[in-house]
Amino acid sequence: MLGVVVDAAEPTVVLGEHRVPTPHGSEALVDAVVGLVGRLDPGGTGPVGLGFPGLVDAADVFRTGPNLPGVVDLDVRATLGPRLGRPVRAANDATCATYAEFTGGAAAGARQGVLLTLGTGIGGGLVAGGVVQHGAHGFAGEPGHMLVDPRGPRCPCGRRGCWERYASGSGLGMLGREAAQAGQLAAAVALAGGDDEAVRGEHVVAAARSGDAEAGTVLDEYAWWVAAGIANLVDLLDPAVVVLGGGVIESADVLLDRIRAAVPDQVLGADRRPPVAIEAAHFGEHAGAIGAAILGIQTR
Ligand SMILES: [Zn+2]
Repeated sequence: MLGVVVDAAEPTVVLGEHRVPTPHGSEALVDAVVGLVGRLDPGGTGPVGLGFPGLVDAADVFRTGPNLPGVVDLDVRATLGPRLGRPVRAANDATCATYAEFTGGAAAGARQGVLLTLGTGIGGGLVAGGVVQHGAHGFAGEPGHMLVDPRGPRCPCGRRGCWERYASGSGLGMLGREAAQAGQLAAAVALAGGDDEAVRGEHVVAAARSGDAEAGTVLDEYAWWVAAGIANLVDLLDPAVVVLGGGVIESADVLLDRIRAAVPDQVLGADRRPPVAIEAAHFGEHAGAIGAAILGIQTR
C-alpha cells in the first residue's frame, strides 16, 4: 500500500511518500497503517484518509473486498482514530482517486463526471453537481459489475458477464487468449513465450505498438467493450468528462484514441449532443492516496 503526505492548502501537491507491503488480516493491516503514518508524518496531528479496494460504508466501515483477503467489517475510524490520535476517514479507493482527479487532475473543475480505473477489475467514482458521490450507503461507483452478457465468463463476484470481465486489464488478456486460440496473434504469442494460454494484455499492447495488425484488431475489440460501458454511463449520467485510470491506461498511446472513437456510436443521440471528453488520469498510481488525503482534509 502507498501512503503520501500532502500540502493541506494545496492537497494535490505530494510532500512525501512511502510504500509498504499490504499484510494479511485486519490487525496486521491496522498496525501497518499506524507504522506508515508514523513514518510519513512523525508527531503530526493532521487528518488521515484511507482508500480501500472494496465496499466502505457511510460510517467508514470497510465491509468486504476480494483484493483484501482476511479483512471484513473493519471499523476504520473507531480502530485507527485512537491509535493515530488524528481524525480518520475511509472510502473506496476509486472514489478517493475521483477526489484527486476532479480536484486538480484530468477533470479539474468539472461538475459532472465519471472516473474509471481499468486494472485487475474496474473501479469507479461519480461526481454530480461538483460533489463526489458516495451513494446512500457508501457503495456507489462499482461499474465493473454492471452485467453486459448473462452468458459471459464467470466473475470473482459470483455472477457471469460483468463488464470488468471484458473491459479491465484482465479482460484485455482474455480477449488476447481467445484470439490466440483461434490461431491469430502470432506476434503476441511469441512475446508470451510461445504459449497461447500465457498471453496477457501487455503482450497484445507490445505487439500492437510494433505494428502487428492482429494485435491492433484485438485492441479495437477491447476498446469497443470499454466504450460499451462508458456509453451506458453516459446515457445514465450525462457526464462532461470520463477519466480513465488504472494500469491499462499506461497503454494510453495505443488505447485512448480507439476508445474515444468507439464511444459515440454507442451513445444515445450522439450526433445531436456535445461529445463527452475522455481523458487519461493525471495522477496515475498516486491518485487513490492523494484523494484519500483530500477526503480526510475536507471532512475533518
Ligand atoms: Zn462481477
